[in-house]
Amino acid sequence: MGELGGGGGDLERERRRLAHAARQVAARGLVVGTAGNLSARAGELVAITPTGVPLEQLSPEQIVAVDLAGVVVDGHGSPSSEHSLHLGVYERYGAGAVVHAHAPMATALGCLLDELPVVHYQMLELGGAVRVAPYATFGTAELAAVTLDALEGRTAALMANHGAIVYAGDIDAAVERMLLLEWACSVYWHAAALGSPRTLDERQLAAVGSEIVRRGGYGALRGEER
Ligand SMILES: [Zn+2]
Repeated sequence: MGELGGGGGDLERERRRLAHAARQVAARGLVVGTAGNLSARAGELVAITPTGVPLEQLSPEQIVAVDLAGVVVDGHGSPSSEHSLHLGVYERYGAGAVVHAHAPMATALGCLLDELPVVHYQMLELGGAVRVAPYATFGTAELAAVTLDALEGRTAALMANHGAIVYAGDIDAAVERMLLLEWACSVYWHAAALGSPRTLDERQLAAVGSEIVRRGGYGALRGEER
């Protein structure tokens, strides 16, 4: 534990938050069993869910800590098989937390689409239309590379015939963002079942952006209009 230094307290807090978030993700139906993984950055370390443990049963002690190169520095299990994808998101996009899940709607649309179009203005929080990263074998450097590219200018991506990934400033916001992505996929799904959904254009999205600024932030996208 000595290696953790002053970051140890932050790490313990992130472990508790991450275990709670993992159970939330399972309870909200975003994953079945072990079909997802979560991580959060604590200084120079990343707390990440272990491989092979169902998220609904996860306890803080089971969370593994790795350094930014992926070397395990604390914990008993092995880090998630997608840990290099998670670490890539921290390195390239400066994220605070990452959630990857085989969420049902997102996974289904990732079998069909090349991009999830902007069918609702709340998708601006995801960066606009959500790209679908090409299929590659789970846990590989190739999957990490194509998924990181799909996240360019976005906070979410679908992964073809696999699942979805989001990142945010902290783990609670990342879980909310995964729920938003799954909801947007559900909206598209239902609309597309009846016809060809209208999508929002650049001008309409720019107007949403201006309104968010005027109202003081992204909270405006989450119900301040109620
Ligand atoms: Zn996966």
